[in-house]
Amino acid sequence: MTDPFHLAPGTQLVLATHNAGKLKEFRDLFEPFGLELTSAGELDLPEPEETGTTFVENARLKAHAAAKAADMIALADDSGLCVDALGGDPGVYTADWAGVPRDFKRAMRRVEDALQAKGAATPSERKASFNATLCLALPDGADRIFEGVAKGTLVWPPRGELGFGYDPVFMPEGYDITFGEMPAEAKHSWAPGQTGLSHRARAFAALVEACCEF
Ligand code: IMP
Repeated sequence: MTDPFHLAPGTQLVLATHNAGKLKEFRDLFEPFGLELTSAGELDLPEPEETGTTFVENARLKAHAAAKAADMIALADDSGLCVDALGGDPGVYTADWAGVPRDFKRAMRRVEDALQAKGAATPSERKASFNATLCLALPDGADRIFEGVAKGTLVWPPRGELGFGYDPVFMPEGYDITFGEMPAEAKHSWAPGQTGLSHRARAFAALVEACCEF
């Protein structure tokens, strides 16, 4: 029997997002594998509430809702920043810490204030990781999870104007520049047989190695 999660060229996939930027990013990523992507936004599907307490729960919630509503194989992602000294916060609430409307300068300051309140001053006391979880779901309720982690330390003040979100305070392990000082190609780069640097590149690498043809 063929693997129902095998994504042969020409497979149609619904991305569980209403964010046009995310759809473009995934269309670009999947382009070399011949997949056809649409999104929950393009199909006008309802957006489920992210009520999970883990990245996996939230990715599952979104992927299963889209797979059922569209009756197609669906892909969802959930990601965030986990700070060791803060017991893993902001974690699944990473976007929420930026308030409404989103203000990531404020969010980075909030993380820094929390670290200072703990007296976390040295790099080893300021360890953090970016996490990305992908869930591929079938309309019948089966799913597969792929995870990617980028470990690093948090710096203050923020450095660099590139990237988005918390990039200017995150210095990945083995580098002396932040994600905010790194061009997107360096941050997200991935090639067959390699792991990539960013959490998203690593989760994507795990997915394509398990499911795609290249
Ligand atoms: P999501 O869209 O629910 O996955 O939100 C994840 C949040 O984590 C976003 O608001 C981003 O601020 C943050 N985040 C995730 N990945 C990155 C990254 O690569 N750089 C900076 N911030 C990130």
